[in-house]
Amino acid sequence: MKVHEFQAKEILRNGEVETPRGVVCHSLDEVPQALKQLGGSVWVVKAQIHAGGRGKGGGVRVVQSAEDALGAARDILHQPLVTPQTGPEGQIVRKLLIEEGIGIQSEIYAGLVVDRSSQRVVLMISPEGGMEIEEVAAATPEKILKTQIDPEVGLTTEDASAAARFAGVPEPLIEKAARFLQALYRAFWDNDASLAEINPLVVTTSGDVIALDAKMTFDESALFRHPEIVKYRDLDEESPAEIEASDAGLSYISLDGNIGCLVNGAGLAMATMDIIKLYDGEPANFLDIGGGATTEQVVAAFKIMLRNKQVEAVLVNIFGGIMRCDVIAEGLVTALKQIDTNVAVVVRLEGTNVETGRRILAESGLTLTIADDMDDAAAKVVQAARS
Ligand code: GDP
Ligand code: MN
Repeated sequence: MKVHEFQAKEILRNGEVETPRGVVCHSLDEVPQALKQLGGSVWVVKAQIHAGGRGKGGGVRVVQSAEDALGAARDILHQPLVTPQTGPEGQIVRKLLIEEGIGIQSEIYAGLVVDRSSQRVVLMISPEGGMEIEEVAAATPEKILKTQIDPEVGLTTEDASAAARFAGVPEPLIEKAARFLQALYRAFWDNDASLAEINPLVVTTSGDVIALDAKMTFDESALFRHPEIVKYRDLDEESPAEIEASDAGLSYISLDGNIGCLVNGAGLAMATMDIIKLYDGEPANFLDIGGGATTEQVVAAFKIMLRNKQVEAVLVNIFGGIMRCDVIAEGLVTALKQIDTNVAVVVRLEGTNVETGRRILAESGLTLTIADDMDDAAAKVVQAARS
């Protein structure tokens, strides 16, 4: 689950990670009061959307007067913001974060991620702050230091100091920077985050180490123990199809192609997308309906897939292991009779009682295509999507 920058900063502040002071505004009327509350004479007006790259899209503005602050707020608030991560239509900005301006001495990149191969949290740090880490990794990988963190011990002072030195933090500030990184790691750990990215982490002209930007995402499987984080969910930032899918207990990710995929199990869903590609087709989505494949789930899944008007054909690829194929087939028939669509449907069933399952489909009176195996299914659905 993603959260906004101002929410990530609230979480970090609770974990004693230094951040600039800031006030959230939902309307232009709130801006003057926010400036007064923050004081000083330099502010930063920041669009709050889940996508990154806001600076490049004009969503982060440093201003030096109340008038300019109001002007910047007027330019950004309630307008779509296009960044390299939003897509061409952009994302409407519904909230602004106004922060005190910070004098920057140097910008650093610091990120914590879960590394699946080592099964550890890894701290990535680079002196190239403010740049996309993917670009740094591609062009100058030697400028990134990765430190694996032992979950029993946490981020040690030694490792944190070495990381800070690598990032070019001046010697007198190493201790402060190391404490910052340790607090960041604890906040990540205590909140079951899956990502915490501080880009940039800055050394200020007054000798502080502070998170100028913050991006955090949280492990959805652990949200049950963090009701305070669940409250941060912002439905305005999610696509309607994804909200509907998560309500129905389905894993759904929308893609660019024209072949809808309805599959049980994430592994089979991946294999299905692979084989569609192998047959020169393009999947319109990833959709895992879970182990059961009940009628209700199939109906919900079809509704979600067919919201996407690009879908020309759907491949239903279901393995009946514990759940028998005849039961699945009956569910499918009931579901498809409820769904009124002229999109071509190809079904591949495999598993227990598959023969009975196929017969139920064949005798259902529905116009669907039954496939023998994965290859046959991919070939047929790609063909159907073309014609
Ligand atoms: P992003 O583009 O979505 O990652 O937004 P950031 O919060 O990282 O802001 C982009 C850039 O704006 C930063 O890399 C800084 O260079 C600049 N910036 C943000 N806040 C301040 C500030 O308080 N003072 C100054 N001088 N620059 C800032
Ligand atoms: Mn940033």
